[in-house]
Amino acid sequence: MDLQPIFEPITEENRPLVIAGPCSAETEEQTVETAKQLASKGIKIFRAGIWKPRTKPGGFEGIGSEGLSWLQTVKQETGMLTATEVATAKHVEEALKAGVDLLWVGARTTTNPFAVQEVADTLKGVDVPVLVKNPVNPDIELWIGGLERIYNAGIRRLGAIHRGFSTYDKTIYRNTPQWHIPIELRRRLPEVPIICDPSHIGGRRELIASISQQALDLNFEGLIIESHCTPDDAWSDKNQQITPDVLAEILTHLVVRKTNQ
Ligand code: PEP
Ligand code: MN
Repeated sequence: MDLQPIFEPITEENRPLVIAGPCSAETEEQTVETAKQLASKGIKIFRAGIWKPRTKPGGFEGIGSEGLSWLQTVKQETGMLTATEVATAKHVEEALKAGVDLLWVGARTTTNPFAVQEVADTLKGVDVPVLVKNPVNPDIELWIGGLERIYNAGIRRLGAIHRGFSTYDKTIYRNTPQWHIPIELRRRLPEVPIICDPSHIGGRRELIASISQQALDLNFEGLIIESHCTPDDAWSDKNQQITPDVLAEILTHLVVRKTNQ
């Protein structure tokens, strides 16, 4: 693949690229307050789910389109870039219209080639960075296929997110990392940057630092970490969200080792 940097080249000095923000945009106040705190810690890319793929009905399925204007407020008030998940043509159209700076394809969507193709078709002729999460099941071909569909639509600012794989076994993880799979992705598609999502791998706050360090030790280019101004009140994924303060603390302790690439 012939790719361009997602925003700017990721060098030893600015690695890891960090994307942080709440699992979901819940209210305007929670969204903007979290973003302000993150911006004050030097975070430049803000994530927030607007449309949430929930396993069962009845949970909080995302605030929907009205949250897009909150992301615009975040941009205006903090200068951060914004990122959200898209799963349908409507999501892509609305997010682009609202000026969202980076889109990602969620793990459930990557399992479905029809859905990925719909997203890809809507992206034709658009220059926006897109990150493709691994599918929930440990199928590297499906992950590569998702990346290829987006690439074939003309997207050149492309990256992968490793968020672990679901399992029925008892483990300490919410989604087991199975590090050999992103390592194999690196071998197959060496030019694709890999961003680790320790929040969805770990499923709990205590694991975020160690998973992030493992990802950096494997030369991953970035981290996407869920952060909420009051994590215990979060409407989704509350056990894995951390305050911007805790996030900053974790980031200062991460060791970025010199790579020979
Ligand atoms: C998310 O990023 O909040 C999310 C829903 O993640 P995943 O697609 O990895 O489950
Ligand atoms: Mn989440």
